[in-house]
Amino acid sequence: MTERLYYEDVYIKESYSRIIEVGEYKDTYTVVLDKTPFYPEGGGQPSDTGYIGEARVSHVYEREGKVYHVVDKVPQSEEVHCIIDYDKRFDRMQQHSGEHILAACFNKCFGTMSSSFHLGDDYISIDISMPEISAEEITKIEDMANGYIYENLPVHTFMVTPEESKNIKLRKNIEGEEKVRVVQIEKVDACACCGTHVKNTGEIGIIKIIKSEKYKGLTRVYFKCGKRAFDDFRAKQDIVTTLVRNFSTGEGELINKINNDQEHMRELGRKLSDYKKKCCSYEARELKELSRNNIIYYIYDDKEMEELQMLTEQLSETKQFIILGSARQGQVIVSAGGGYHLNIGQFFKEKIKEFNGRGGGKADRAQGSFTSELDLRHFTEELIKHLE
Ligand SMILES: [Zn+2]
Repeated sequence: MTERLYYEDVYIKESYSRIIEVGEYKDTYTVVLDKTPFYPEGGGQPSDTGYIGEARVSHVYEREGKVYHVVDKVPQSEEVHCIIDYDKRFDRMQQHSGEHILAACFNKCFGTMSSSFHLGDDYISIDISMPEISAEEITKIEDMANGYIYENLPVHTFMVTPEESKNIKLRKNIEGEEKVRVVQIEKVDACACCGTHVKNTGEIGIIKIIKSEKYKGLTRVYFKCGKRAFDDFRAKQDIVTTLVRNFSTGEGELINKINNDQEHMRELGRKLSDYKKKCCSYEARELKELSRNNIIYYIYDDKEMEELQMLTEQLSETKQFIILGSARQGQVIVSAGGGYHLNIGQFFKEKIKEFNGRGGGKADRAQGSFTSELDLRHFTEELIKHLE
């Protein structure tokens, strides 16, 4: 049996241990020690990482009472210096203890149960047995949870038999016959758990709910504790500072300023659309003059497809064959008319690839795009040749 130093003292970062077993694991090796500071994966908490001698420990797991360390090589010496990635461990202690407090607060306030604790490098979440949570309810939970942090309450861990556990008010009942480890936060919560926890709630620093969403009849609550929450705050503060500078306003006025600017942008968009329509009718009149052999053919220097479509619509009443393009955008739209019997969609399908273009459409209208102006021009010239 390996001596588990992380249960004797959760703050142990390193140890001088002896290798008692070496094995192979997939393409790597496993090492068993006489005593280890490495926490193995369990209870929703990922395993520690670090070094055993010169070997990198990427994963630690437990099987039948033994703690296996997955290493990239077998250490040279039997007596080894072990060191864990303590910043990562402490982060997990902050998140895990925070999760117990948060789940307890939900339980106290709303009588809910929690499940599916996820403690990843990417995000941390728990599922709460509530179909939905309001913003006010989240504020209430956050205030309560952070209140317990300010009180700096002691966190105790101890083993109990299922019989003894009946004398403790546990958040979740214990199943099975074996002794279990209980993590008890004074005044707040007691819960069966094998994870590593801070000794006092003050070490958690802060608990902040980031967002919540409905999930299979429950509510998934995403949160951050301790340094993770602080790093998040710092990143968000940087965003706010940038926005304040870019919008030339104060933090308090920022939301109003953005809302007003968005409304202004929408208004400008509407006006621009009106102007485009007016311009289109003038341009359509000019394009009609260009008609040769019942074909209106014109390549603009620069025009968006939306405008080409608008022009095509306006010109459709002329019943001419229409070819309109945009040189810079490398786009073209073609519309049937002028008494020509050509399936335009079919023509695009058969020919456009020869000119390095993409696109297609129906028998009476199609549009395409090209990587160069030259390809666009050659394609349209080929089309006209086809009509002749
Ligand atoms: Zn736990």
